[in-house]
Amino acid sequence: MKCPACGSESTHVIDTARELTGNIRRRRECTSCRKRFSTLERVVDTMPLVVKSGGRREAFNRDKIMNGIRTACTKRPVPAEDIDRLVDQVEAQVLALNRSEVTARDIGDMVLNRLRGLDEVAYIRYASVYLHLKDLESVKREIEKLLAER
Ligand SMILES: [Zn+2]
Repeated sequence: MKCPACGSESTHVIDTARELTGNIRRRRECTSCRKRFSTLERVVDTMPLVVKSGGRREAFNRDKIMNGIRTACTKRPVPAEDIDRLVDQVEAQVLALNRSEVTARDIGDMVLNRLRGLDEVAYIRYASVYLHLKDLESVKREIEKLLAER
């Protein structure tokens, strides 16, 4: 860390504070000219990249997950705040994995596990997209699984 007054690279930290935003503010002192100054380190959440089924990678996109769930919940009695909370939980779970990459399928599973408790019709709709339930038979099997677990 360079001193802004004399340009010396020899400074030491005299105080460190974490702000409410999570950023870290450090009070430093130059060991050459004794000038004191502050630095702010911005903490950036490191969401993992999402690996699609074809191997393509893309940034984690909260809105995209939200839209998928909203579509599945169309005309279902699911409050918007429940969907918000579900996406929050999935985002937190992905972050907690602490990995550099996560598969789209993993995220789909996280959503499904929670959606099942929220609304069964929305669950089947979402599952038919994300589990690639291609035909009526596999949708039927999924519904039977759901009924058996009741
Ligand atoms: Zn200095």
